[in-house]
Amino acid sequence: MTIFSRIIAGELPSYKVAEDDKFYAFLDINPIAWGHTLVVPKQEVDYFFDIDDRQIGEMMIFAKKVAEAIKSAIPCQKVGMAVLGLEVPHAHIHLVPLKTEGDMDFKHKVKDPSPEKMKEVCEKIAAAFNKG
Ligand code: AMP
Repeated sequence: MTIFSRIIAGELPSYKVAEDDKFYAFLDINPIAWGHTLVVPKQEVDYFFDIDDRQIGEMMIFAKKVAEAIKSAIPCQKVGMAVLGLEVPHAHIHLVPLKTEGDMDFKHKVKDPSPEKMKEVCEKIAAAFNKG
């Protein structure tokens, strides 16, 4: 079981921003920008491009809704998207609010993100998602 499956199962905590029957979205614990969110399929697949055609399409539609929520909750110009997957073997999309091109730099991390601020950001995005 991957660490993300354990999060989805509720065995490990997460800052959940959205969920449906197939996908789960939560804040990256080591964000590169405030509002940095991960979207994962509940079904465990390691490599993003191994996700079957139907599911990868559905995942993009779910990620689009999460990106819209991020954009309305976090001041930014656009929401960027990236797939890396070198660290956690459970396919996921990174959604990152961008003001400048440099905001998508995975070497840059938010310094000591406090649980209070993570919770605040999470609640803002979740509220925007639920508003639709
Ligand atoms: P990668 O697999 O290279 O796309 O990176 C995995 C991402 O997952 C990194 O940005 C980590 O900060 C993030 N991550 C790892 N463990 C957790 C966790 N328990 N909760 C939230 N994000 C996590």
